Amino acid sequence: MENTTTAPFWETKKLEELTTQEWELLCDGCGLCCLHRLQDEEDDEIYLTRVACRCYNIEGRLCSDYANRHQKVEGCMKLTLERVKEFEWLPQTCAYRLRYRGEPLPSWHPLITGDPRSSYPYGMHALDPILENDEIDLEDHVILEALK
Ligand code: SF4
Ligand code: SF4
Repeated sequence: MENTTTAPFWETKKLEELTTQEWELLCDGCGLCCLHRLQDEEDDEIYLTRVACRCYNIEGRLCSDYANRHQKVEGCMKLTLERVKEFEWLPQTCAYRLRYRGEPLPSWHPLITGDPRSSYPYGMHALDPILENDEIDLEDHVILEALK
């Protein structure tokens, strides 16, 4: 009998082959890329902080203005294939980073579980985030060494 099971797009397609919709679906919603990072001027080491971009909605667990994010927040960049290759600071669990390296998605990825909340224990919210404001000194909120 013919096997009609089709492997899902995230297993079969390279990042450059994804449609716009598939590209968006690949994001697990972890929010880790919306946390500020600091780079040491001397050795370039990158440090993650628990401070979320001021545009992030911590309770809602998503960007509060995703459609206008690039205009609203300086430094917020659309993740492209070139940037996935370039951004060493992307979390090790980032789905784009994993697929770029030919690695499988984790079992908790929402595309696999069917539950958009399944990434929460592995993302920003597991790190007790606080929202950026003018008073915050990022150096006071470093939580772990860079994800290189
Ligand atoms: S780190 Fe990657 S998977 Fe997580 S929210 Fe950012 S782009 Fe999406
Ligand atoms: S503007 Fe939105 S998507 Fe961009 S870093 Fe801030 S919270 Fe994240």
